[in-house]
Amino acid sequence: MVNPSASVPIRPGAALGLLGGGQLGRMFTLAARSLGFRVHALDPGHDCPAGQVADLEFRAAYNDVYAAQALARGVEVVTVEFENIPAETLSAVASLRPMHPGAHVLHTVQHRLREKTFLAEHGFPVTPFREVSTLKDLEAAVAALGQPSVLKTASFGYDGKGQSKLAGPDDLAPAFAALGGQQGVLEAWVPFELECSVICARSATGETCVWPVAENAHRNHILDTTVFPARIPAGVAARAQAMALAIAAALDVVGMLTVEFFLKPGGELLVNELAPRPHNSGHATIDACVTSQFEQQVRAVCGLPLGDTALLRPAAMANLLGDLWPATGEPCWERLLAHRDVKLHLYGKTEARPGRKMGHLTALADTPEAALAKVLAAREALRG
Ligand code: AMP
Repeated sequence: MVNPSASVPIRPGAALGLLGGGQLGRMFTLAARSLGFRVHALDPGHDCPAGQVADLEFRAAYNDVYAAQALARGVEVVTVEFENIPAETLSAVASLRPMHPGAHVLHTVQHRLREKTFLAEHGFPVTPFREVSTLKDLEAAVAALGQPSVLKTASFGYDGKGQSKLAGPDDLAPAFAALGGQQGVLEAWVPFELECSVICARSATGETCVWPVAENAHRNHILDTTVFPARIPAGVAARAQAMALAIAAALDVVGMLTVEFFLKPGGELLVNELAPRPHNSGHATIDACVTSQFEQQVRAVCGLPLGDTALLRPAAMANLLGDLWPATGEPCWERLLAHRDVKLHLYGKTEARPGRKMGHLTALADTPEAALAKVLAAREALRG
């Protein structure tokens, strides 16, 4: 359970440790620095997005226990921007400093089967699923759940990586082969009306808060746009927010929790996935809310009072993927910046690849539709 007697609050001026140095870590670091904290970040990559703005960058593999311990010794608390950190590293860090979210949370969410089993056992609605270790398991799972269905690797899957859709009998063998010997999870295909997510925070003191529901549109399994607040009935939004807070309490998360949902016609909500960290669907909170998800992560892991999550105006976010980059050089930023009411956030990545998240755009407006039109027009202008 949350331990209010832990050495909190951790106050501005202290150093915070960060495992993972991607864009989520960069935006966490910028928020922490703006509150007067120092940040030490660990990431395997050279010139990583968070390292560019952190006080100290540790370039080390996630399984480098000694490097993670060196990071931990120099800070007051450690947090993560990435859930797939090896268990040995997590326990080595947790033996030295408070770590939020805790290793028990990361253990559950690192593995789809564990995550879904945890949710189902706690009475939360999830997509029907079956474990798949052999081709025979897959045949039995397809017989039980029907087709279409989707086979996913149990570990290390994100943005649709490691997923195969099964639409007919010929798809089973290739999908099983694509698991490459890893354990899999077969999920029934959900004919959803829309996808949405709820981000909430739970502080080291036990205080909680939740943002309005975000409405998400994916392209090629990768988040494309988010509209804030989601265009769903108030009762459905309240249920989604209550469920996210209940999951955070059941998991005993300290820090952030994002819950991704499928909303079915008729109002039924199914949990698709959990992430114990800020989330791409919450990027609009930087420009559109009193407190961003990144500032809240700082407050929550430090045991400081949580900030107001109120939405100032309806907003929309559009991702900028590497596909928008020309073969050589940079996109023509002036074309985008001429859209003066659109905010550009770039992550400092020098190498653009198709599907790689390079930045995002946010706009505010009187309605979510108008905000969405603004970010789409600005992104289109970039395409030239
Ligand atoms: P995931 O990485 O599991 O969140 O999947 C990425 C995206 O693929 C989701 O956001 C959905 O758009 C789609 N997807 C994944 N699983 C299902 C499912 N069982 N039914 C329908 N769409 C799905």
